[in-house]
Amino acid sequence: MTSPRILIWYRNDLRVRDHQPLHHAIQANPETLIPAYCFDPRQWGETAYGFPKTGAFRGQFLLESLADLRASLQHLGSNLVIRTGKPETILLQIAQECSISHIYYYQEVTSEERAVETALQAALQPLGITLKPFWGHTLYHPKDLPFEVSQLPELFTHFRKAVEKSATLRPTYPTPQSLPPLPPLDAGLLPQLADFGLNAPELDPRAAIRFQGGETEGQNRLQHYFWKQDFLKAYKETRNGMLGADYSSKFSPWLALGCLSPRYIYEQVKAYEAQRLANDSTYWLIFELLWRDYFRLICAKHGDRIFRSSGLQGIEIPWKEDWKRFNLWREGKTGFPLVDANMRELAATGFMSNRGRQNVASFLTKNLGINWQMGAEWFESLLIDYDVCSNYGNWNYTAGVGNDARGFRFFNILKQSKDYDPQGDYVKHWLPELANLPASKVHEPWKLLPVEQQRFNLRLGVDYPHPVVDLFKSAADNERLYNAAISDRPSSNRKK
Ligand SMILES: Cc1cc2nc3c(=O)[nH]c(=O)nc-3n(C[C@H](O)[C@H](O)[C@H](O)COP(=O)(O)OP(=O)(O)OC[C@H]3O[C@@H](n4cnc5c(N)ncnc54)[C@H](O)[C@@H]3O)c2cc1C
Repeated sequence: MTSPRILIWYRNDLRVRDHQPLHHAIQANPETLIPAYCFDPRQWGETAYGFPKTGAFRGQFLLESLADLRASLQHLGSNLVIRTGKPETILLQIAQECSISHIYYYQEVTSEERAVETALQAALQPLGITLKPFWGHTLYHPKDLPFEVSQLPELFTHFRKAVEKSATLRPTYPTPQSLPPLPPLDAGLLPQLADFGLNAPELDPRAAIRFQGGETEGQNRLQHYFWKQDFLKAYKETRNGMLGADYSSKFSPWLALGCLSPRYIYEQVKAYEAQRLANDSTYWLIFELLWRDYFRLICAKHGDRIFRSSGLQGIEIPWKEDWKRFNLWREGKTGFPLVDANMRELAATGFMSNRGRQNVASFLTKNLGINWQMGAEWFESLLIDYDVCSNYGNWNYTAGVGNDARGFRFFNILKQSKDYDPQGDYVKHWLPELANLPASKVHEPWKLLPVEQQRFNLRLGVDYPHPVVDLFKSAADNERLYNAAISDRPSSNRKK
């Protein structure tokens, strides 16, 4: 039997550790092994609402991740072949040039990514080249779940309980010790952000963390958070924070591009539990990774429903496309300090805490009544940790059209501000115009009397905006629209 000539198609799996396609390729003792990455121009275009599909923060992180992957592969004796173009064209060219017999890759679940797989399949079939997909990205393999993906529970709690009761978890794959060299082939240069019409983002001095892409930095972050600083032991108590580097793990950018694998993190949590301590916090980090799994599996189950404005539940809410108010939201000028601080953090750094994301998404949809897809696309453009399933799944959920059976729920921004930012440290960090306000006034600047505005050096409507809506009246108005849409919904759209 002849040895296979294998190409590894790297996508959102930019690592060498716990990499099943790479592991299986080495096991097959290939005559040729080519790790390759394609910059697909379709990922650098615009979203439906006209935002850059891959913004500068994620673009930069991606380039750093690829540089790190290339260095790791070189260290193992190979290299990363880098090209710009559609994978179905580029991989076909490389396959022909190097007589490739197999292409191994991690499959995706959402439509744009699957369309590329289908196009590649169509291009390769006439040449008799085998495409071998692997399931990755999640902690649990679908085959190890106690149900078929088509029977995935519509409520996260049901999913979690069933998984915790009877699913088994596969171990990580060993890291290769060495790799065969590339055949004679130009490895290609790593492009720069300017090649995609983007400027390198400047690090805002107020940013708590400089996210550096790549497996090496992902590993460093884990070492820091678990082993050096022991932050894991208090994760459950701190995870709802908004200010600082370490209230939560900040693993998400590395998870989104596959620089860290969820199973590697799981094994590190188990090692931490064995060597240091096991408590609610160590459990909770795994609990959060289950949310990540859940949204990916939901996408696998429901396909394009997650992208529709009516969402997974098929609720036809008459969303507004009010650009004036949307711009106030995205620029952090709504007059609600918690919303504004978070939106300015996102614009300045490409990151926002989970608490912040829930609040700003609730405000956009439940107070402003604006189409959640606009918010989701803005996040897609800016988030350094953008993950199609987690982003669209969470937006569905927060907009009330996803996996949430509890009807119209909205975040009371004022209560959230007082609960999670009692001294106003977070809002003052991002809204320096509020710096002089005492904690008792900072979350409701619209209540300041003229004499107080003078005392605290803040002119409402000049230095900081008046609130764009009345918090409770706007929520009540949108609740009426929501309830009307629910009662009009055809029964065939109701998800059990
Ligand atoms: C509207 C909205 C949009 C979001 N978009 C994204 C996105 O594009 N990419 C993304 O990775 N997360 C997204 N999230 C989920 C969550 O906010 C981030 O994963 C989290 O803030 C990342 O910070 P961390 O790594 O410190 O999280 P930690 O609290 O340390 O959690 C550890 C890991 O668990 C996973 N996780 C935690 N919460 C969630 C969740 N609600 N859904 C899915 N996975 C979760 C993440 O992989 C995270 O890195 C979104 C949440 C909301 C409300």
